[in-house]
Amino acid sequence: MKTVSIHPAVDNGVTQGDANFSGGTLQCHCSNDKVEVSIGAQTAHNHVCGCSKCWKPTGALFSQVAVVSRDALAVTANEDKLHIIDEDAVIQRHACKECGAHLYGRIENTGHPFHGLDFVHTELSSQTGWSAPVFAAFVSSILETGAKKPDEMAAVRARLTELGLEPYDCLSPALMDMIAAHGAPD
Ligand SMILES: [Zn+2]
Ligand SMILES: [Zn+2]
Repeated sequence: MKTVSIHPAVDNGVTQGDANFSGGTLQCHCSNDKVEVSIGAQTAHNHVCGCSKCWKPTGALFSQVAVVSRDALAVTANEDKLHIIDEDAVIQRHACKECGAHLYGRIENTGHPFHGLDFVHTELSSQTGWSAPVFAAFVSSILETGAKKPDEMAAVRARLTELGLEPYDCLSPALMDMIAAHGAPD
C-alpha cells in the first residue's frame, strides 16, 4: 500500500528540534525581493494542521505550523509585499502578495486565549533546529477540501500515528486546556 503523504517536512520522518536553537529567519518563496521575517526564539507547539486556512505547500495534505511569542517576531525585509488574507479572521494571516506564502499569522483580539502568540511555518527557514512537529490538528478537516474521502481517513490517521504525530480533530489536549482555562473564573 502506498504511504500517505502528509507534508514534505515529515514524510521521511520527523526531524527532532535542537534544544539550544534560539531562532532564525523565514523567507517567502519569491526568487527576488523576498519577504523576510526574523524570529528571536525557538518555536513551540509545532504541529501539522488539516484545516483549510493554514498555508501549505502545493500538493501537501497538511500544513506545518508552530507558535512563537509575537514580541520575538519582526518583519526585516520587503514588508510592503505583505497583505492580510482575511481581516475578519481570528488569525490574521500575513502573506506575500506575489508568491502566496504565509509569513505569520497574528491574533489582534486581546481577549483571545492565544493572543500574544504568532503562527509561523518554519519550513520557510533555511536553518535547522526549529522545534519538531508533535501532533496533528484538525485531521477530519481535510475532508472539507475534498482532498480525501472518508474511507481514506483510517490510512491518514495510521500514517500520522506512525510518524509520532497523534491525530486530533481539534487542537492537542495542551492547547485545548489553554483555551478552556482561559474562560475559567480566577
Ligand atoms: Zn513572496
Ligand atoms: Zn490550520
